Amino acid sequence: MKGGDSKTYEVIIIGGGPAGMTAGLYTTRSRFQTLLLEGALFGGQMTTTDLIENYPGFPQGVSGSELSRLMEEQAKRFGLEIANQEVMEVKLEGEMKRVRTYESAYLCEALIICTGTEYRKIGVPGEKELTGKGVSFCSTCDGPFFQDRKIVVVGGGDSALTEALYLTKFAQEVTIIHRRDALRATKIYQERAFANPKIKFLWNSVVEEIKGDDVVGSLMVKNVKTGEVKEFETEGAFIFIGISPKTQFLKGLVQMDEAGYIITNANCETSVKGIFAAGDCRKQLLRQITTAVGDGSTAAFAVEKYLEGKE
Ligand SMILES: Cc1cc2nc3c(=O)[nH]c(=O)nc-3n(C[C@H](O)[C@H](O)[C@H](O)COP(=O)(O)OP(=O)(O)OC[C@H]3O[C@@H](n4cnc5c(N)ncnc54)[C@H](O)[C@@H]3O)c2cc1C
Repeated sequence: MKGGDSKTYEVIIIGGGPAGMTAGLYTTRSRFQTLLLEGALFGGQMTTTDLIENYPGFPQGVSGSELSRLMEEQAKRFGLEIANQEVMEVKLEGEMKRVRTYESAYLCEALIICTGTEYRKIGVPGEKELTGKGVSFCSTCDGPFFQDRKIVVVGGGDSALTEALYLTKFAQEVTIIHRRDALRATKIYQERAFANPKIKFLWNSVVEEIKGDDVVGSLMVKNVKTGEVKEFETEGAFIFIGISPKTQFLKGLVQMDEAGYIITNANCETSVKGIFAAGDCRKQLLRQITTAVGDGSTAAFAVEKYLEGKE
C-alpha cells in the first residue's frame, strides 16, 4: 500500500492483551480515534489459563477467556476499532509513525506497544494441549493450585530455581528436571535449592512427552547420557526454559535491554517521542495482569498529554 492510501489514527495500539485493551479503553474514553492491532488471540496470555485468582474484583476467580471477553467488550463500548492483523514493521515519518501489517498499512500520531512476551516452549507432544491443565509457565499464577502435590520444574537457570523455591510453599515435592549435570543458576539460588528438603533433581534429563487425558499425569523423560526413556509420574509441569519479549520487529526503533525488553520511564515513554510501551514487553520487575492493566492506563494517559502538547 502506498503512503497516501494509509488510514490515519490518532493512536495505534499493538497487542490485544490486558495492557493493550486497557490502553484502548482509556484512549477511546478520552475521544482519541484508536486502532488496536492483534496478531493472534484477543486477551493475550491470560486466555491460556483456566482460573485467575489474583485479579481484583473477582472474589471467586475468573477464567482467562471470560476476563478477556469482558475487557474486550468494555474497550469496544467507547469506540475502539480492532483489527486481527499482525504488525511486521514500524517506521518513523517525521512525527508520524507508519505501522505495517501483513495486510495493510496505517499512520498514527502516537503508538502504544503492548506485545507482551512469549514463554519458550519445550516443543514436545502434550505441552500445548495440556497448557493450563497442569502445564504452566507462571508459578505466581498457578502455584496455589498445586497444594501438597508432586510437581516438576523444567529448566536449570535462575528463573527455574527461584520458581521451584517459590513452588515449595505449596507443593509436597518439586523435582527439577535439567538437561545437564550442573545448574546454570546463580550460586545463592543453587545453595537454597540444594538445602531445601522438598526439592529433588533429575540430572542429564530432557522431557520428551507430557501425558494426561484431561490433566497432566506423567512425563516421558530421557536420560541424555544413557538414552534411556522412563515414565515419571507428576501432577504438574512448570516450564522455565526462558521467556522472550515479542519485540524483534521493533529492533533499532526504540531502546531495549540486551534481552529485548523495551526501556521506558515511569510514564511508559520509550526513547522515541510519541512511542509508548506497556505491559510485559517493557523492562520491569513484575509481569502480571494487574501490572499490564496499570501500564495500559499510564501509557494512555501519557499519550493524552503528548497529543495535547502537540496542539
Ligand atoms: C499460563 C499462564 C497463566 C497466567 N496466569 C496469570 C494469573 O493467574 N494472574 C496474572 O496476573 N497473570 C497471569 N499470567 C501472566 C499474564 O497473563 C501476563 O502478565 C499478561 O497477560 C501480560 O499482558 P500484556 O498485555 O502485557 O501481554 P500479553 O498478554 O502477552 O498480550 C500481548 C498481545 O500482543 C499480541 N502481539 C504480539 N506481537 C504482535 C504483533 N507483532 N502484532 C500484533 N499483535 C501482537 C499477542 O498476540 C498478544 O495477544 C499468566 C500467564 C500465562 C502464560
